[in-house]
Amino acid sequence: MPLELVTVPCLSDNYAFLVHDAATGETSVVDVPEAGPILKALEERGWRLSQILLTHHHSDHVAGVEELRAATGARVAGAAADAHRLPPLDLELAEGCRVQVGASEGRVIEVPGHTVGHIAFHFPDSALAFTGDSLMAMGCGRLFEGTAEAMWQSLRKLSALPPETLICSGHEYAASNARFAATLEPDSPMLIFRVGSIAAARKEGRPTVPSHLSDELATNPFLRAGEAGVKAALGMMDAGDAEVFAEIRRRKDKF
Ligand code: ZN
Ligand code: FE
Repeated sequence: MPLELVTVPCLSDNYAFLVHDAATGETSVVDVPEAGPILKALEERGWRLSQILLTHHHSDHVAGVEELRAATGARVAGAAADAHRLPPLDLELAEGCRVQVGASEGRVIEVPGHTVGHIAFHFPDSALAFTGDSLMAMGCGRLFEGTAEAMWQSLRKLSALPPETLICSGHEYAASNARFAATLEPDSPMLIFRVGSIAAARKEGRPTVPSHLSDELATNPFLRAGEAGVKAALGMMDAGDAEVFAEIRRRKDKF
């Protein structure tokens, strides 16, 4: 049975995610920007939290961990590489490690670039991937610690997941990301359609997260650095994919 997913808006533009296995009643949360909205979402459903999964060390993803841990007794799992600057971990994770939510098994994917110890969680049986600030709806995280090459390789790994995978990312940034994407591929019908649906969603106050990987592959400029059309738009026909990705990231930083 696939995991049940609940998107929990936190702070001004962050998302946390509850995943619940109905068969065993087990519930985990991915990232804790603040404890309040997560405790409320658990209470509304009568779910008991047993595990906190962390994508990376930034405070807008971990600030509520201690309060949530104290309130629920949940164990905390995060990247071994960042154990020194994450809240105290009960379980240290690295590439290929498995995490369990009830009967569902998730796999840890290291996705450095935004931070060096950033990880993602993929639950293949539920077609869910939790990507934090690596791959985001129509965008990707800024390169605060890693190199463009590292982030490009991270995005390549995530691109290789099944296209029907739902990408559960950490922020509501799609509207500004969409405006930027339109500067690179203004004539793409897929992009024009998605820009319209993102604008409609935001007007109605609906989240644009999660999104399908298939839509990201078709419209997210950061996954499309290898496309001839994107290279041509940037005047970089002969450049390598990672180099083109770096230029797209630079332009977005200034957008
Ligand atoms: Zn971050
Ligand atoms: Fe963030």
